[in-house]
Order: sequence, then C-alpha cells, then structure tokens
Amino acid sequence: MRTLVVHGGAGEWPLDLRDGAAAALERALEAGWNERSALDAAIAAVKVLEDDPLFNAGIGATFNADGFIEHDAGVMEGAGLEAGAVAAIQGVRHPIDLARAVLDDGRHVLLVGEGAMRFADQKGVERADPSLFAVKRRSEQLERWKIADTVGAVALDDNGHLAAACSTGGYTGKRPGRVGDSPIPGAGFYADDSAGASCCTGTGEHFIRLVTAFSATSLMAEGVSAMEAARRVIGELGSRLGGSGGIIVIDPRGEPGAAFNTDHMPWAARR
Ligand code: ASP
Repeated sequence: MRTLVVHGGAGEWPLDLRDGAAAALERALEAGWNERSALDAAIAAVKVLEDDPLFNAGIGATFNADGFIEHDAGVMEGAGLEAGAVAAIQGVRHPIDLARAVLDDGRHVLLVGEGAMRFADQKGVERADPSLFAVKRRSEQLERWKIADTVGAVALDDNGHLAAACSTGGYTGKRPGRVGDSPIPGAGFYADDSAGASCCTGTGEHFIRLVTAFSATSLMAEGVSAMEAARRVIGELGSRLGGSGGIIVIDPRGEPGAAFNTDHMPWAARR
C-alpha cells in the first residue's frame, strides 16, 4: 500500500473516548496496510472499525426512531469506477462485506432492505442476530454528544489504484428507511484513479445535495491539492447548506487531506 487514510466520524468526541478512537484507527491502518489492492485495504480497515463499538457502524451503530439499527455501506474502486452499496439493512455481520459483494456481482450498484439481505444469503455473506449490533451505552453517548461517527477509509495501492469505503448506522432517531450519503457514490464516497478518492461523514442529507465526495475528487482532478479540496467542500457544506461533518481524501499520488467543521473528527494516515 502507498497511502491509507481512515476516519472515525465527525462530531463531538468526549475526552474519555478519544484515546480509544485513536487506538482503533491505528488498528484499522494496520489491518489494511498489508493488503495488496486499495479496495481490499479500505475494506479491511473499515471492518476493524465496524467491529469496534466506539463507532457508529457495525457493532455500536445508532438506533433509528423505532429503536432498531439499519446499516448503510458503500465501496468504490477507481480503476474501472465500479461501486457497490447497501442501505437500510439489518443483521449483516459486516455491512461493508455486503457492499463489496454488490460490487463484485456487478449487476447493480445499490441494494436496499429485504432484497439486499436476500442477496447476502445468496452470496454467503455472514449474517448476525441484529441484537449483536445494539450497544445501549453507545446509543446514549450518541444522543448526548451528537457524535456522527460513521467510519471510512481511502487507499492508494502500489499499482496506482484508488479505493474508498464507508459504513454507518446513519444518525440517532432517523426515520426507519432513511438513507444517508454513506451508500451513495459521489455523495458519501468516490474513487477515480485519475482524480482521487474521498470519503465523507456528517449530516448525510447535505452531503447528498452537494454531491460532496465527487466534488472533492473533481477539484483534485483540476489540480487543487488534497488538503485544499477537502477544505473547500466542507467550507461550502457549511456556508451554503449549514451542514456539518468532515471528509478524508487522497489524490492520485497519495497525498492525503482532511477537513471537518465539527469539533472533532478522528482520522489517521499511513504512507
Ligand atoms: N453521513 C452519515 C449519514 O448521514 C452519518 C455520519 O457520518 O455519521 O448517514
């Protein structure tokens, strides 16, 4: 791997959780670093974060208004612009694995709800009892601190290929069936070998309306630096729509960038 960048979600991170988040991000970098392809690396990193109840993805995801968890996840690779995503799913052990299965299958880009779960069974993607994901203490923290901690990763491999992956529970109290930016290519994540890769976190409705992940990679394609591209799209998110959140990006040479307009967004990079 040439560059791997991970984030643990934009929001307010209380002091007592920050060390844990930093350690988990290191473990995620470690898990992805020895993978050969950018896609495998981004997915391996995200799986570590899905397993950690500190983050709003996989285990520890936030509850919707009816008190249950619906996961969204998406992946994209930058060589052929192939993408796979799932939304409003329940009881899939690693939502990012199911997004990957959609990408590998190649027929569709986004599967939702019941159909996505049937597809998981057809493809042998591991299922789990929905109770596995429900961590009560976590949900109380999410409400109290308004942490929007979706997880994500962007990677550049030794062959010059880019990838992006993200996974989330959305946000606390969302309507059942609500889908945010995280499973929508161009909104929550994007990867194009000739432009860059990006992965977003925050108020998904705003990221969808500004097509934020695609906008960041387009800026990099025009020659804007990774850090500046990240700053500009998050600046626009705040100034035009009053949205809050953050983004991680890498350009085709592996230069990382990150920006957020929330109090915190834990992120880490290895080059
Ligand atoms: N972007 C996610 C969503 O709106 C939330 C987050 O980043 O925490 O579903």
